[in-house]
Amino acid sequence: MFRAVALFLVFSLAYAKHEIYDGHQIFKVSVKTHDHVLLLKDLEQDFGLDIWSEATLDHPGMIMVSGTRSKMFQDLMADEGIQAELEVENVKALLDLEDKLFGNASSKNFTSSRASALALPLNKVYRYEEIDTYLEELARAYPNVVTLVNAGKSFEGRDMKYLKISTTNFQDTSKPVVYMESLLHAREWITQSATLYAIQKLIIDVTEQDLLQNIDWIIVPIANPDGFEFTHTHQRLWRKNRAVGYMVGDLCVGVDLNRNFDAFWSEASSNIVCSDTFHGRAPFSEPETAIIRNIVDEHKDRLELFLDIHSFGSMILYGYGNGVLPANGLNLHLVAVRMAQEIDAVKMSWNNNYIVGNVALVLYDASGAAMDYAKVSGVPLAYTFELPGHRFGFGTGAGFFVDPDFIEQAGFETWEGIKAGARSALASYRTKHNAK
Ligand SMILES: [Zn+2]
Repeated sequence: MFRAVALFLVFSLAYAKHEIYDGHQIFKVSVKTHDHVLLLKDLEQDFGLDIWSEATLDHPGMIMVSGTRSKMFQDLMADEGIQAELEVENVKALLDLEDKLFGNASSKNFTSSRASALALPLNKVYRYEEIDTYLEELARAYPNVVTLVNAGKSFEGRDMKYLKISTTNFQDTSKPVVYMESLLHAREWITQSATLYAIQKLIIDVTEQDLLQNIDWIIVPIANPDGFEFTHTHQRLWRKNRAVGYMVGDLCVGVDLNRNFDAFWSEASSNIVCSDTFHGRAPFSEPETAIIRNIVDEHKDRLELFLDIHSFGSMILYGYGNGVLPANGLNLHLVAVRMAQEIDAVKMSWNNNYIVGNVALVLYDASGAAMDYAKVSGVPLAYTFELPGHRFGFGTGAGFFVDPDFIEQAGFETWEGIKAGARSALASYRTKHNAK
């Protein structure tokens, strides 16, 4: 693992775009026993597997393997009786296809129902600088409802900015606060559509006045700016932040930000720097997670709903990451079902219905997650969304690849779910507030 990653880093600078993924393959892996699940977990570290989605007894997972290790991997799977089907022959080819689709999309005239100069066309993934400019423009154009907050700097020194959207400048404590963020994991590009769509529906094209009038919103479009930029400039499939200093020579860098929060920290994550689930040196060791913590802490009295948008898998997950259900577990589940039903009603027919449940039961134990920090801080409703992985141009092997034709749909359908969640949060907050 160590040597493989070191080689990647050296070569990634010298080779052309996506060259480091040339020959990488993706396998659909089906497991039959719990031992299989554990074996794959071990192999992630020992063998340098990139687990795109976890295999569980209920559904297959997707695993990326480098070309040089593919044969060894397949032999090992065969020996263990684990079924591994080749899903993507060469990852580089799909990345090239993604570039081509984005190139075609930007040359097409994108028309949308949201006719406003300030609505970003949702047919591309916007870079950090573009989002930064956009947030500044919105704050200037809509000073009565939008406040732009510069919350501090990322590891590499990028400003972490977020929007506060409120008709009462966050002064009316009879309103709940709803928080949402995207791109905590760098490669999960499709998630940007969810926050951008929400921003547009709350500021530019307001069709649900109740959501704007009765709720204060906090929206963080890029929760991991350094990692996100790195996916554009170096490695499209990078997940973590870009923290250095964890290893002599920095042969492996980056912390999995969604394992770095102070909630069961380090209990079910990796202490190996090279791992994609490396949890960092301490809870909130990373500036990006510390900034999110500060937002949660500042607003926790009124924060009723916390949404961390990830991809992929069509899931709405809640805590805790160790499989223990919070005291309001039933309500957490009911609100998640409500959100999932709204999304399912308008989703593309070829995508699966959303799965709803406790993250450890549906997927695997995971500690230090953002949603669990929100929950232990007292936020009643805290969720991780996993947006769909199946997209027009890519079929079932799509995973993290984004078809630009799917971006607006992803934003739209996710917003249907968020609306339901926000209304549930409003109702429960009012019940509590009136009871005081
Ligand atoms: Zn993620």
